[in-house]
Amino acid sequence: MNTSELRTEITALKEKENAIILAHYYQLDEVQEIADYTGDSFGLSEQAASTEADVIVFCGVKFMAESACILSPQKTVLLPEQEAGCPLADEISPEDLVALKKNYPEAAVVCYVNSSAEIKALSDICCTSSNAIDVVNSLDEKQVLFVPDRNLASYVAGYTDKEIIAWDGCCPTHDAMTAGDVHRIRRTHPDCVVTVHPECRPEVTALADHVGSTAGIIKYARETPAKKIVIGTEKGTLYQLKKENPGKEFYLLSDKLVCPTMKVISLEKLRNSLKNKMHRVTVVESVIEKANLALNRMLEVTRQGSGKLG
Ligand code: SF4
Repeated sequence: MNTSELRTEITALKEKENAIILAHYYQLDEVQEIADYTGDSFGLSEQAASTEADVIVFCGVKFMAESACILSPQKTVLLPEQEAGCPLADEISPEDLVALKKNYPEAAVVCYVNSSAEIKALSDICCTSSNAIDVVNSLDEKQVLFVPDRNLASYVAGYTDKEIIAWDGCCPTHDAMTAGDVHRIRRTHPDCVVTVHPECRPEVTALADHVGSTAGIIKYARETPAKKIVIGTEKGTLYQLKKENPGKEFYLLSDKLVCPTMKVISLEKLRNSLKNKMHRVTVVESVIEKANLALNRMLEVTRQGSGKLG
């Protein structure tokens, strides 16, 4: 079956099943193209919470599909490739977090949404890279345990007077960027601007012209008068950037900016998942209840907040 036939079949199945396809900005171009909504973790979690569809096909990684289950427990949530995980989310286990909390009994626990449902259930509030500063500053506690990404934690620490205790995890894709990559690209394109994700190392964010979530990077690219833009985030974002800004040139900070697990979903797997209701993601009820509190507290802060990363 060719691509156009696959697309036709997916569209028909979607109508039949009253399904919505959500895709992360890091997915393959053809998957983003057929999605009803493309976004970053925050935008996707808002869509998952508000959709009227019966079935959510989540083209992303497992923690994202779990968040959709937590926010819409009555819906069927499908992940077209069950092996699509996130190495950052795997960096902390529930046992690790329980032990950490014992050491800091007065601290609030903020977990980046790139974490398992169990970690969310053990946290006071979630955050995404677009609302992390607002979330941390909304807390009454002076001390904050921030899990699992040390780079995002370090970035947030620059915008708060709270004491941030960071878990030593990282996203291997973003953490691979170095100051040398920024210097090299500026030498090659002296008239460029550089915008990077806060999952990059502090030495990289310090050298960038702009730091933002993936949605923040897309907004910055839309609004900057610069014509040459270097992005320090996953390669898939180029699809949206080029579509929105035909008059601008985009470059990756490094060709290492590819997340392998974000590239495992194909149109064929998407069709199979929808057709056979394959790879349903579920979360146990007791975890849903607690994780839902943490996610909804985040959504509430964002509804009221300002000063988002971006
Ligand atoms: Fe996880 Fe990093 Fe891949 Fe995002 S880009 S899914 S944080 S490994």
